[in-house]
Amino acid sequence: PRARAAVEWSGEGVTADGHGVKVLGNVGAPSDAHAAVDAGAEGVGLFRTEFCYLDAATEPSVERQRAAYAEVLAPFRGKPVIVRTLDAGADKPLAFLAPEPEPNPALGVRGLRVAVDRPDVLDRQLAAIAGAAADSGAEVSVMAPMVATAEEAAWFAERVRAARLERSGVMIEVPAAALAAREILAAVDFVSIGTNDLAQYTFAADRQVGAVAALNDPWQPALLRLVAMVGEAARAAGKPAGVCGEAAADPRLAVVLTGLGISSLSMNAAAVRAVGAALAAVTYDDCVRAARAAVDAPDPAAARAAVSNIRADRT
Ligand code: PEP
Ligand code: MG
Repeated sequence: PRARAAVEWSGEGVTADGHGVKVLGNVGAPSDAHAAVDAGAEGVGLFRTEFCYLDAATEPSVERQRAAYAEVLAPFRGKPVIVRTLDAGADKPLAFLAPEPEPNPALGVRGLRVAVDRPDVLDRQLAAIAGAAADSGAEVSVMAPMVATAEEAAWFAERVRAARLERSGVMIEVPAAALAAREILAAVDFVSIGTNDLAQYTFAADRQVGAVAALNDPWQPALLRLVAMVGEAARAAGKPAGVCGEAAADPRLAVVLTGLGISSLSMNAAAVRAVGAALAAVTYDDCVRAARAAVDAPDPAAARAAVSNIRADRT
């Protein structure tokens, strides 16, 4: 018998029967950008800009930010890149945006909440991103982290428009945002689900605490039901919904997410080929069946088992 299709991939995210799903890279530095291109990523679904400044004592100037972002964008001329505005706080503290001491930093002023407190910092970052987008020729979209309400999404979209950037989106990382996906999608051009934080907040299980890691399993059916809600809202709105958390890097879960209505998957470069090959090996109908089986399963182990019964290699 031939080797499984998993080692072969055309470089285009598409199921065996032609349903397109973009396979994108998660990046935080120029080296990641080159790794993503080498792996065959079709663009970037998550550029974690805060990774550029984890060691910065002071806010970098617009010029320095522009140069740093342009370096990451350079390999993606003509390709889609989603740049996430600074996700400061909790597990990614930035010295120049440190909040007042808080008892629960993951539930405090982090992500977009920092930008609402410091719109001047957001506006300078948006100016730098607009400059870098022009320098690089990449198809840049801008996305906000840790959004909880449609009102926040609309506030962010307005700032993005004011910076003359073309496309805005928000991350779905808080259960309230998944529940309000319809209203959020009315305010922005796209959403992208951050399954790492969405799991953390859905299960009230700190993503940094190993003892509760089983609760943060991305195969948890309750998490997948929230993803399904977002996928349905996106379909109804005619706007794209991606996944850029670790869930997207699991080839079998990528099949499930596709069946839940997700249209792009963003992951570390090491996972790109296996995810692309897994999608190429199934039909869209297989994806829908896998999604139903996983969502209806009573627990993560049963979800995994149910999906492994669905044919995933067509060689
Ligand atoms: C996520 O929360 O799933 C995500 C992609 O963002 P980060 O891991 O950077 O918080
Ligand atoms: Mg997150």
